[in-house]
Amino acid sequence: MEQTERLVVALGGNAILQPGQRGTYAQQTENVRLAARQVAALVRAGYRVVVTHGNGPQVGNILLQNERAAGEVEPMPLDVCGAESQGFIGYMLVQALQAELGPERPVAALVTRTVVREDDPSFREPSKPIGPFYGEEEAARLAVERGYRLKEDAGRGWRRVVPSPEPVRIVEREAIRALVEAGVLVVAAGGGGVPVVERRLPDGRRLYEGVEAVVDKDLGAQRLAVDVGADRLLMLTDVSHAYLHYRRPDARPLERLSRTEARGLLAAGEFAEGSMGPKVRAAVRFLEAGGREAVIASLAEAERALAGATGTHVLPDAVAVRA
Ligand code: ADP
Ligand code: MG
Repeated sequence: MEQTERLVVALGGNAILQPGQRGTYAQQTENVRLAARQVAALVRAGYRVVVTHGNGPQVGNILLQNERAAGEVEPMPLDVCGAESQGFIGYMLVQALQAELGPERPVAALVTRTVVREDDPSFREPSKPIGPFYGEEEAARLAVERGYRLKEDAGRGWRRVVPSPEPVRIVEREAIRALVEAGVLVVAAGGGGVPVVERRLPDGRRLYEGVEAVVDKDLGAQRLAVDVGADRLLMLTDVSHAYLHYRRPDARPLERLSRTEARGLLAAGEFAEGSMGPKVRAAVRFLEAGGREAVIASLAEAERALAGATGTHVLPDAVAVRA
């Protein structure tokens, strides 16, 4: 069967680094190899796939390297660190995807920028913790020397916090679409994309300027999915479903949800912020923007989830009711 469905596949952190791993290159490549095997199965099944991925631990490590070597190598701003992580993870992914699909299959990773609004409310109240933990003294020093905002993180130490603005538009969307049309398997918008604001110069010219912020990976994936005209958005993570009453004795996996039901459960606080919350929010937004279906599933079950055998499926209201 000829299949031309467009699919954005968002890989969670577990696709690159497993909890408790030190994160050696061998460990990360092995994880990525398993993730690439899942993605390759979708490509072989005929889906036109755009892959995106998280970058939290990798950016954290890049920041730590910058910090520790600051006396010898000038530290780079956060947008540059984000781009570095896209290059690093993108390279690992294209290598692994190429190994799965063979040298004939065109595969490319794109350093991608995401437009955010300069007046996004998150710039007034930075809240997304990134990078290493610091002691109180070091935190105070970094606040003065680098102008960082730092917050105490649940007794574990001090951590830099940055704004997490809403993604407005993927700058490279036309380029990505053209690559997809040409049959290229694209990796893009890693870590939600590098956040940039659009500036208008006095002479009327417009340009993009990188900002010290991070875009949520799932919300970035949703933006990417809309911007490339994806039929479905598949968010692969380390749990098989979004759950109702998660981690409580009466926990129940959600199999099929209407957009309105999903929005209601989100508002009721069923999905933790910073983990499942943004996935369900991304699903709701994708449908609001005209997407056909959003699926939240475990990485190991990607193909079965697309076939409807597992995972949480968020559907337009009319479709969900008919089930
Ligand atoms: P990823 O890197 O894939 O984005 P996250 O850790 O951000 O992974 O999100 C997945 C995690 O969300 C799960 O491991 C689970 O612990 C947590 N989670 C929080 N609330 C829920 C819920 N209601 N249902 C399922 N998982 C949930
Ligand atoms: Mg996450």
